[in-house]
Amino acid sequence: MSAARKLVIAIDGPAGSGKSTIAARLAKKLGYINLESGAMYRALALKAMEQQVPLDDAEALRQLAEKSVIQLEPSGDGNRVVMDGQDVSRRIREPDVTAAASRVSSHPTVRQVMVARQRQLGANGGVVMEGRDIGTAVFPNAEVKIFLDADQMVRAERRFQQNGSQSPEEAKRVQAEIAARDERDRTRVASPLVPAADAVHVDTTHKNIDEVVEEVERIVERVASG
Ligand code: C5P
Repeated sequence: MSAARKLVIAIDGPAGSGKSTIAARLAKKLGYINLESGAMYRALALKAMEQQVPLDDAEALRQLAEKSVIQLEPSGDGNRVVMDGQDVSRRIREPDVTAAASRVSSHPTVRQVMVARQRQLGANGGVVMEGRDIGTAVFPNAEVKIFLDADQMVRAERRFQQNGSQSPEEAKRVQAEIAARDERDRTRVASPLVPAADAVHVDTTHKNIDEVVEEVERIVERVASG
């Protein structure tokens, strides 16, 4: 692949479809940076919780977003997330913030602020950005668009395994969380989770990470050489 051509690679899909892992692996192979757009919504949700801003107050959340400095620093397998100078990488992955992020992200004005920042981050290309609306709203002209999906039960199982828990209650909780987030992300009015018309669909239900990375790499090579 020509080193001079720095592509924008958009990877979208629901929770547990493998986006973060695939985006990180792909970016590493290509020498690109990977950016987790969801981490920005998570960081904002955490700040709203800390400052007791109601998660349905769109205007207050927009203002909070405007004055927050959220940095995504690619590091190894994921992003280190720094908000207003504080490392929030771990905290934003916890269940309460996960649920709040999905609510915060449903407000169109909040999305406007985030999308503008995401465009700046990817403006120079050489980036793998993952999320829900990267190929549809953030970078509708991205050279490569991938839509990852998998059976909902399989996605819940993956998340459960990641958590390292053995408890059946926790398995049920993760399943319910994935179902609720799927529903909210797919049915919201602003930039719902839908594949871009020109996205390549990759179903990861029966594939391991290596297989998916190889498949996505082939798609990228096709585009880069075309
Ligand atoms: O990808 P991740 O699970 O970290 O995203 C957290 C939440 O942020 C998602 O459930 C979704 O509601 C929201 N999100 C979004 N648009 C993106 C990325 C994430 O609405 N581009």
